[in-house]
Amino acid sequence: MDNCIFCKIINKEIPKDYDLESENLVVFPDINPSADVHLLIVPKKHLSDIRQIEKEQADLLVEIFKTVNTLVEKNNLTDKLYRVVVNGGKAQHVPHLHFHLLGGHWKKMV
Ligand code: AMP
Ligand code: ZN
Repeated sequence: MDNCIFCKIINKEIPKDYDLESENLVVFPDINPSADVHLLIVPKKHLSDIRQIEKEQADLLVEIFKTVNTLVEKNNLTDKLYRVVVNGGKAQHVPHLHFHLLGGHWKKMV
């Protein structure tokens, strides 16, 4: 997708260190963190938002939430406060589906 910042990160047009990468998704830190831990889980396939989710994405959604569990363990959040947030409508600023994992102390709303 032209002009999509997350597609550019996925296509390596914009350099970014990933916390994790699989065939279907990448994980990298949010550039403007809202909490001690603020990671973005981003499917490689360009879907603009949750309204584009169909049955076809069932396996991807399972992988996303399994990845959340891995990241929670990796970042020692198991016994701490953590949340997964998906923004939509006017709350969503990057029009490429992504899941925020926020943990520890929150600084602001996502
Ligand atoms: P949302 O409002 O749910 O679309 O969230 C988009 C998030 O992407 C925001 O929290 C931004 O700080 C973050 N973001 C935007 N550009 C970048 C980037 N180049 N690298 C990492 N995070 C970014
Ligand atoms: Zn995109």
